Amino acid sequence: MNNEKKIPYKIYLEENEMPTQYYNVRADMKKKPAPMLNPATLQPVTEADLTPVFCEELVKQELDNDTPYFDIPQEIQDFYKMYRPSPLVRAYCLEEKLQTPAKIYYKFEGNNTSGSHKLNSAITQAYYAKKQGLKGVTTETGAGQWGTALSMACAYLGLDCNVYMVKVSYEQKPFRREVMRTYGANVTASPSNTTEIGKKILAEHPGTTGSLGCAISEAVEAALSKDGYRYVLGSVLSQVVLHQSVIGLEAKAAMDKYGISPDIIIGCAGGGSNLGGLISPFMGEKLRGEKDYRFIAVEPASCPSLTRGKYAYDFCDTGKVTPMAKMYTLGSGFIPSPNHAGGLRYHGMSPILSELYDQGMMEARSYEQTEVFKAASDFARVEGILPAPESSHAIKAAIDEALHCKETGEEKTILFGLTGTGYFDLKAYEQFNDGTMNDYVPTDEDLQIGFDSLPSVER
Ligand SMILES: *Cc1c(COP(=O)(O)O)cnc(C)c1O
Repeated sequence: MNNEKKIPYKIYLEENEMPTQYYNVRADMKKKPAPMLNPATLQPVTEADLTPVFCEELVKQELDNDTPYFDIPQEIQDFYKMYRPSPLVRAYCLEEKLQTPAKIYYKFEGNNTSGSHKLNSAITQAYYAKKQGLKGVTTETGAGQWGTALSMACAYLGLDCNVYMVKVSYEQKPFRREVMRTYGANVTASPSNTTEIGKKILAEHPGTTGSLGCAISEAVEAALSKDGYRYVLGSVLSQVVLHQSVIGLEAKAAMDKYGISPDIIIGCAGGGSNLGGLISPFMGEKLRGEKDYRFIAVEPASCPSLTRGKYAYDFCDTGKVTPMAKMYTLGSGFIPSPNHAGGLRYHGMSPILSELYDQGMMEARSYEQTEVFKAASDFARVEGILPAPESSHAIKAAIDEALHCKETGEEKTILFGLTGTGYFDLKAYEQFNDGTMNDYVPTDEDLQIGFDSLPSVER
């Protein structure tokens, strides 16, 4: 009890305690994530296959399943100091409100203008593009957090930034679009008439409000058709999980300082980058047999890649221009319903997390939208932070676990990732507050349409 009193509301690391290397959890996996395949040959992709699309150094990171640590270049470490270390917060007020014996901590990544953890990888990807002497990068964005983060990183480094923004967000979230333009990015609503694949999708699905999968196809095509450009992606890829390991490394260093060890680690999962990054160092310990933890991935019931998807080779985009990855997927033809947690509306999942989930190293669950916003609202009222809808999936699971501890009397330590803030999601909060929010759960028939789009790959 005395000992516990000493734990502050917020644990901040000193700047000189911040990680100087990224940790690659693949190095400690005995069974590695399945290799990405070249769709033309169905053979594992090579560096030569990927370098026309991605930056060279990032391709090396993508294909490296063995090197445990990668140095974080000094310039990136310096950029991180603009908004890191991020605080590890002890949720004393939430514990009090829930009357739980559980100890709840969250790692808060919303303290930067992009409003999410995505800046951690945006700066790294932009840095390597710059180092390669490129003129600029292309990308997609769903809700806008990734596009905003990349715009910030590109502005800092003087790179051109072209963002294909899912049309529904482009129309519903004009403020994020303006933030991106303020940082100098060109923003195009997707699907658009600026690419061949965009034209094709528009012809097949007139009136479509777009999806991340469509926007990826357009951004890849745009990168391939212009000299001096490469495509960058804000989630799913193994390199992104690698960059996001700073979240977990900082969280673990802060906890170690106070002798705290989490029993349960929770994160929301869209493409899996924040969760993968948060759990990486802890999962490394579990994989090496040093320690045990429970890991929980939380996804929306409207886009349930892990809980209802298939573990299969699939394309990362709707236009089928990307390499195929083996992952838990709803099929690249799955077009999710407009769920407000835009950052979680992706048909697939990080191949690293997919493999760990398949091995039984991690659990997954899904929640419906309304119960997630209820948790968000409860959290905001006691902890003060207005959470992003995506992050609120993790809040909901943390609250449920803490309430379970209340029933059993267990004093579990829970750590969850609070990935961002929800200031640009107030339309969704408005619907929740008005009681007009709908829960949408796809039927098995709905999901079958997506599964029917899976390529048949015998491996
Ligand atoms: C993008 C985003 C997510 C989901 O992406 P992951 O790659 O699964 O981490 C979660 N929360 C916020 C705030 C986001 O912007």
